[in-house]
Amino acid sequence: MNKCPQCNADVPDGVNFCPACGCKISGKSENIGEKFKDLNNTDEFTNEFSPDDIENTKGVSILSYLGILFIIPLIMYPNSKFAKFHINQGIVFFIFSVIASALSGILAFIPVIGWISIAVIYLVLLIFMILGIVNSATGRAKELPLIGKFRIVK
Ligand SMILES: [Zn+2]
Repeated sequence: MNKCPQCNADVPDGVNFCPACGCKISGKSENIGEKFKDLNNTDEFTNEFSPDDIENTKGVSILSYLGILFIIPLIMYPNSKFAKFHINQGIVFFIFSVIASALSGILAFIPVIGWISIAVIYLVLLIFMILGIVNSATGRAKELPLIGKFRIVK
């Protein structure tokens, strides 16, 4: 239950207008920042990894999100669970990037709407890459939004 900011009446959850005075209640989806937070509210498994493992591999695990450079942490720390978590996220991201690039090749033929879509696709890829790098650098085993559920490397 929420309170109306205008008249202080009780407003049930999920209702966007105050039943008493009719003023608009700012719901969850109002704010882009909040929406983004919801999107990045992904599963985190950091406490399943040993602190030593995280400390040793969090730096090199960043490479997992830079294209095929994921092979470097794979070669350096084949037995690290934390590195493998990010290598898996990186490979899923890499496959997603390849598919997105192929899709962009098709969208390039569609004037304006296609070009805008390409810009959005690359913005999403950039955001995912930054999230992955930040998660790794800060020693967190956190899934990427939308695509982070896939497990290729175990
Ligand atoms: Zn009201």
